[in-house]
Amino acid sequence: MASNNFIDYVKINCRSGKGGAGSHHFFRAKGLPNGGPDGGDGGRGGHIILEGNEQLWTLLHLQYKKHLFAQDGEGGGENLRSGKQGEDIVIQVPLGTVAKSVETGEQKLEITEHGQRLILVPGGRGGLGNDHFKSATNQTPQYAQPGEDAIEEQVILELKLLADVGLVGFPNAGKSTLLSVVSAAKPKIADYAFTTLVPNLGVVAYRDYKSFVMADIPGIIEGAAEGRGLGTRFLRHIERNSMLLFMISCDSKDIAAEYQILLGELEQFNPELLDKKRLLAITKADMIDEELESEMRPALPPDVPAIFISSLANKGITQLKDMIWGALHE
Ligand code: GDP
Ligand code: MG
Repeated sequence: MASNNFIDYVKINCRSGKGGAGSHHFFRAKGLPNGGPDGGDGGRGGHIILEGNEQLWTLLHLQYKKHLFAQDGEGGGENLRSGKQGEDIVIQVPLGTVAKSVETGEQKLEITEHGQRLILVPGGRGGLGNDHFKSATNQTPQYAQPGEDAIEEQVILELKLLADVGLVGFPNAGKSTLLSVVSAAKPKIADYAFTTLVPNLGVVAYRDYKSFVMADIPGIIEGAAEGRGLGTRFLRHIERNSMLLFMISCDSKDIAAEYQILLGELEQFNPELLDKKRLLAITKADMIDEELESEMRPALPPDVPAIFISSLANKGITQLKDMIWGALHE
């Protein structure tokens, strides 16, 4: 099994910085041997922070960075001097990264925007210096607060792809071929030798330098929604796609029935997927002529806009892009 190659899932050990201790110090000067308390506050321990980066497409860069320890805060000093804050660790992650606690399984946060910064594991607060504890009755507080402890936590980072268009179809429908034909530039994911089971992303150049991201999700197999095979893992990636392009070969025995099966698979996995806009591409249309096409039209599923395309013969591809763009920006 090539599951070690998945870069959409990493487990990391995080430890935030401990807060610095507050100081218990008393002001001293010539002729003033018993000055008041002047212990400064401890510095906050470093946070571990996730930051969204739209240039990243995988979690691969974290694969060998299993231990992330932020710096401790420094203790407070005399003369009300605050301790230095521990340095934060900022981890760059792709948009669509979800962080879960290993211990509870609960989702901690999700990064969806470029530049968005969220604290994954907070650093300990610095302790208050003894200056804070003086009162009318106690002018010489001996007490200063210790810094808060560091937090150590195992976290899972998972990537949900944020593609604009997810391709949905059985194996051999022509998904990979379409992607290879319409993709202008392939994001970095293509540079790595992954198994064919990893979703493939492509940036599709559209008119006037506009573009959208298309994701080829490896074949939805029957039964995938029940978790059979690795299907669930892949289906997860289309949860976030903003629209779905169904692909069915023109030599399918019954296009409408196949469409219903695909819908059923999606619904079992997550009924919300059916709320997404859909288009249907009848693929490999170079194998049939216009006459046959017209004969087939009445039998197509009535509730979804459909188009005949051929990636090999570059037929209907521009119109398909227009339809996708229209659906995305309606
Ligand atoms: P996927 O499993 O959905 O990714 O399908 P692929 O893109 O790998 O294509 C499956 C097979 O269909 C391959 O042998 C392709 O060469 C063939 N194919 C894909 N697109 C076309 C097309 O437009 N016309 C024809 N004739 N064959 C195609
Ligand atoms: Mg494929």
